Amino acid sequence: MSLLEFEKVNKYFGETHVLKDVDLNVEEGEVCVIIGPSGSGKSTLLRCANRLEEIQGGEIRLAGESISDPKADINRLRQRIGMVFQSFNLFPHKTALENVTLAPTKVKGKDEASAEQEAKTLLDRVGLSAQSGSYPNQLSGGQQQRVAIARALAMNPRVMLFDEVTSALDPELVGEVLDVMHALADEGMTMLVVTHEMGFAREVGDRIVLMADGRVVEDSPPEVFFENPKTDRGKQFLSKLL
Ligand code: ADP
Ligand code: MG
Repeated sequence: MSLLEFEKVNKYFGETHVLKDVDLNVEEGEVCVIIGPSGSGKSTLLRCANRLEEIQGGEIRLAGESISDPKADINRLRQRIGMVFQSFNLFPHKTALENVTLAPTKVKGKDEASAEQEAKTLLDRVGLSAQSGSYPNQLSGGQQQRVAIARALAMNPRVMLFDEVTSALDPELVGEVLDVMHALADEGMTMLVVTHEMGFAREVGDRIVLMADGRVVEDSPPEVFFENPKTDRGKQFLSKLL
């Protein structure tokens, strides 16, 4: 059994079929990188894994337990799946530290003191121990995104989903966020990462999954995908990067 499993997942927006029989398994400790052209269904796939979207066919499971079942305990499952988006969505009137302690205290009922202790450790881990008292508008985009990562980690998730988390950042701030994700991967976090950062994909990814038009069209180790892709779609995608 894989930690996160997508089995024959189908998703429609009205008449539009956006995920077509998607099969994808993410193993515990694995970094699975999803790439593909805009509109291919990458964000929708991640959003379905967190039940931000419902699916119309197939099943998504975390550690064997159905996420997509209408009877699933969504709040409990969401605690086990951390998600970070392109837009950081921090609470503007809360400090970095408060952004990180909010869910553990409000959702998990953790006491303030231990939540704060853990939040400090997490902010330290993302290189922001000096900024714990800062408000989002006092932080750079890269710092805000690192707070968002710390906030997701505060729920102690089994798997982390990242959807183009560096796409909105100024180029000089991209590296600091990728470094945090790299460290997280090295610590063994299971990660499903949508990104256009091919250097990161190649270096940190255990697998490269290429999506096109709602389907997984190639699923290869990075050395295969970037050296000698198995499919024409893979070759086509690579040739456009050069
Ligand atoms: P990607 O992240 O790969 O760029 P998306 O998952 O955002 O692709 O989108 C896949 C397809 O689903 C696109 O055709 C997009 O227009 C459509 N889509 C995404 N979200 C919605 C929505 N909320 N309502 C209708 N169509 C949507
Ligand atoms: Mg997207």
